[in-house]
Amino acid sequence: MKVLKFGGTSVGSAQRIKEVAKLVTARGCNIIVLSAMSGTTNTLVEISDYLYKKNIDGAKETVNALEAKYMRTIDELYSTPEAKEEATREIKACFNYIRSFTKDIFTLFEEKEILAQGELMSTALMNIYLKEQGVNSVLLPALEYMRTDKNAEPDSQYIRQKLTAQFDKHQGADLYITQGYICRNAYGEIDNLQRGGSDYTASLIGAAINADEIEIWTDIDGMHNNDPRFVEGTQPVHQLHFEEAAELAYFGAKILHPTCILPAKLNNIPVRLLNTMQPDAPGTLIHNQQSAHIIKAVAAKDNITAIKIKSGRMLLAYGFLRKVFEIFETYQTPIDMIATSEVGVSVT
Ligand code: ADP
Ligand code: ASP
Ligand code: MG
Repeated sequence: MKVLKFGGTSVGSAQRIKEVAKLVTARGCNIIVLSAMSGTTNTLVEISDYLYKKNIDGAKETVNALEAKYMRTIDELYSTPEAKEEATREIKACFNYIRSFTKDIFTLFEEKEILAQGELMSTALMNIYLKEQGVNSVLLPALEYMRTDKNAEPDSQYIRQKLTAQFDKHQGADLYITQGYICRNAYGEIDNLQRGGSDYTASLIGAAINADEIEIWTDIDGMHNNDPRFVEGTQPVHQLHFEEAAELAYFGAKILHPTCILPAKLNNIPVRLLNTMQPDAPGTLIHNQQSAHIIKAVAAKDNITAIKIKSGRMLLAYGFLRKVFEIFETYQTPIDMIATSEVGVSVT
């Protein structure tokens, strides 16, 4: 079994949902992870911002506009009245739930519940569409198996146990659909794996079920050798080692969530980056084989803080770096890069 993850653009319209449905049904029994339709999570963040600021009118207006967009998608997507009715009921329930937060106090907890609605809606739409097409698809609720522990790290044992139980319960399905990004935390509250985290969901599932492959389907034909949003004429890189891919993602290659490679690497599961708009393009294969030691790609990232620490007392001294790093540890501040000389240390 493989894990196939589709990002926001890949399921961003009725047409795209139809194309993804065609693509996944042609590939047999796999587990399909979906992001929210493109723009949805950003809009949910916007709604939450209004609610934090007690701008109830702003929130309601934005909720209504987003709901109208979903209603148009439903209109375009389904051909039977039954499917249309079921989808309308499900989507309206999500929007009414979001509206219920305009009445009470609004904190981080409520925001996370709002943010979870995007993936709940995209998976509901896809599942109803597949059923309308006669596919025996089963929706696996991520909130019942995806969980983080007290350190906000994935609780691998729990995930494996609960996922296995879900599969046992729904044997013989044509394919399985589930939500990316959303989870519960150690206290059972609704939480998420950070923005862009659906990639992480896919690799956590891949590791939990020991999948044959994890496929990340997006809007570009693999990891390019530079950021195509800023550089013209970039080319896809056909193969990368797990570590190269992880490092590129960590240092800004937005095509992958920075943490998504680790579970795949630990379980030696190949990750393939593929293009939903161009399904036959080879994309990028990320695996444990190292090809020639050449520079494969360049990545960049904004909002970096660089700190230069100089000390006249560093020459031939010891224990200086320990003191510096202790301070970062106390304040739980991660360091990306470090350069040292005899008189100073620079960290980002
Ligand atoms: P999805 O919604 O499918 O998760 P993302 O927007 O998160 O998709 O990631 C895909 C985007 O990543 C591409 O459209 C591209 O603009 C951007 N990107 C940044 N750096 C790279 C890179 N080195 N190679 C490919 N895409 C990149
Ligand atoms: N929908 C979430 C986001 O926009 C997660 C994801 O797409 O991976 O960040
Ligand atoms: Mg992404």
